[in-house]
Amino acid sequence: MPVVSRRHLLRSAAAALGVGALARLGVRPAFAADGDGAVIGTSQGGQPLTIYRYGNGPMKLFIMGAQHGGPEANTNELARMLMASFTETPGQIPSNVSVWVMPEANPDGLANGVRQYNSGVDPNRNWGTGDWQADAFDSNGKFTPGLGGAAPFSEPETSALANWLWTVWPHYTINYHSVGGFMFGGGSGLEGELSDLYSQASGYPRPTGGGGGGSPLSYRATGNMNGWVRGVGMGGCLIELASVRDPEFKRNLAGVHAVLNRLGQG
Ligand SMILES: [Zn+2]
Repeated sequence: MPVVSRRHLLRSAAAALGVGALARLGVRPAFAADGDGAVIGTSQGGQPLTIYRYGNGPMKLFIMGAQHGGPEANTNELARMLMASFTETPGQIPSNVSVWVMPEANPDGLANGVRQYNSGVDPNRNWGTGDWQADAFDSNGKFTPGLGGAAPFSEPETSALANWLWTVWPHYTINYHSVGGFMFGGGSGLEGELSDLYSQASGYPRPTGGGGGGSPLSYRATGNMNGWVRGVGMGGCLIELASVRDPEFKRNLAGVHAVLNRLGQG
């Protein structure tokens, strides 16, 4: 039974109430060199949950692949291709920017060819948003009992990532999924600007509309990570690649470059 940090839950609740600035700790994990990985936790199947860092600046970008495991394996491929690109050409990352990449957000699902964690809980329905519920719709719009978990952050993978995010507090999170051919994200200020830039550079349309009315999904994605990230005041987007297999590297590299260049301006 995973233990969820009570402190974390309290912080989440406080943040959801609009006092999110209370703990922007600015703790910097000790990475010696670009491309180094930090293990932030362990999956239910015993695999490490690893996040890799490139660059060292105060403006922070977080990129994530394979939250939905094997059926969305092209997002893992994309994240790994971005990592290889950052290693090959470090100059892509402005000096005042840090990039963290988590290529295997759900390593068990990736290994087993399924979207869910080993528990059967969906990695993108288990977050402490206002609309979280235990029973939820899966990525195919099928309503499934227990898909959201017993409680928000009930799963060790979700709670490890939430705690890491809370500690590092990225300015923007890019969460890759497939398949859809659009992106969610927006808001105002820097977050909105970065989402616009990504959409323009990559060509993924970004449906807009008040109160979530612009969602192209036919079902409600309750307790999703993007909702939590944005709800606590971090910026973020979710990108649905247009293809099931193609990592769509070129257009996403263009989107990432647009975001990096804007973050580079501080
Ligand atoms: Zn997905």
